[in-house]
Amino acid sequence: MNKVPVKRIALFGSTGSIGRQALEVIGSNPDKFTAEILTAQSSDDLLIMQALKYKPNIVVIGDEKKANKVKQALATTNTKVFVGENALEEVAALDCYDMMLAAIVGFAGLKPTLQAIEGGKAIALANKETLVVAGDIVMQRAVENKVPIIPVDSEHSAIFQCLIGETRNKIEKIILTASGGPFLGKKPNYLVNVKRDHALQHPNWQMGAKISVDSATLMNKGLEMIEAKWLFNLKPEQIQVVIHPQSILHSMVQFEDGAMKAQMGLPDMKLPIQYALAFPQRIPNTFPRYDFKKPNTLSFEEPDIKTFRNLVLAKEALFKGGNLPCVLNAANEIAVFAFLHNRIGFLDMTDLIERTMQHVPFIEHPRLEEYFDSDAEARNFAASLIKL
Ligand code: NAD
Ligand code: MG
Repeated sequence: MNKVPVKRIALFGSTGSIGRQALEVIGSNPDKFTAEILTAQSSDDLLIMQALKYKPNIVVIGDEKKANKVKQALATTNTKVFVGENALEEVAALDCYDMMLAAIVGFAGLKPTLQAIEGGKAIALANKETLVVAGDIVMQRAVENKVPIIPVDSEHSAIFQCLIGETRNKIEKIILTASGGPFLGKKPNYLVNVKRDHALQHPNWQMGAKISVDSATLMNKGLEMIEAKWLFNLKPEQIQVVIHPQSILHSMVQFEDGAMKAQMGLPDMKLPIQYALAFPQRIPNTFPRYDFKKPNTLSFEEPDIKTFRNLVLAKEALFKGGNLPCVLNAANEIAVFAFLHNRIGFLDMTDLIERTMQHVPFIEHPRLEEYFDSDAEARNFAASLIKL
């Protein structure tokens, strides 16, 4: 059998939850992957440790105040240090890697990902905001540059896996599962008082702060509906959400004959990360396995959209399209930031997003620059409402 060449991975957001787990996968498979580029916004100590361990060609530190420390720590190594926001795009344009793991959180991930696509690099996509903001342009450029976009988000990885071998078969609908987050079953009179630390305690997954809050508000599932629309070329009405608190069944596809395919397993992001990095191969690992012999009930229920109104707002953006998902995303990033800094309450996040969506003028077919402008306008307006 021919040996598969080592895949050189650029980890954008290597110090985050996804980035760290990806490095574990890479470290366990040195014959298959190398970490060629590592990037971090401000976690200088962790970036230095990662660089000393994985010996990348390049690291990027976003925060310029941390640059000297990183440069000094890596001065005797072969790792080159790039600094600042623009360095992300500069490095994404280089030819020293095969695949980008897009694991930066939020809108900041869009430009480097677009740059990698222009350079013909395969994308393992964790950064769902990239598709929420400008999914039409990202997918079109991926097609033009013949770039595969392999989802890392567990639900989308599940659907992607279910669609293997179904090229000619039409999808009737997809069903995205949602754990419901830490506040499943709670009502507004409870949610009005919840604070940051409680919202960050997800029952099934350990994730970065922003996505943890998004999971608690169900905005994460709304963003994932929009992500799915672009990844799988679906109509909004083909995308359904069901609450599945155990997070064992990671999502389903229903075909035209009514047959459903699902992908299952324990909730462990290393699995979809490894799948995306190794695609189209499956490679062995020692991750824990789900055991049907243990007493365990898998349950499903409707989301409570009267309480978790973010899902309604995201659906509105999904159906209306244009720049509305971009505006929703920007307002949500401001809302989550303000909530994490104890500046607004849990339920205030939804009001802030709704008012911003009503304020920013609608554009039906935005150009890329108009997405950037809509993002900036939505951020400024949302921040002004709460005097941030
Ligand atoms: P995280 O907050 O743990 O890590 C974010 C990473 O991005 C860090 O390396 C940080 O240095 C970098 N970063 C943050 N702001 C930046 C900026 N302005 N410019 C450049 N780099 C910046 O986040 P995470 O939980 O790893 O999530 C990353 C992405 O993956 C998100 O889009 C999230 O929605 C998606 N995702 C995460 C999970 C999960 O289990 N954590 C699951 C599915 C999808
Ligand atoms: Mg997900």
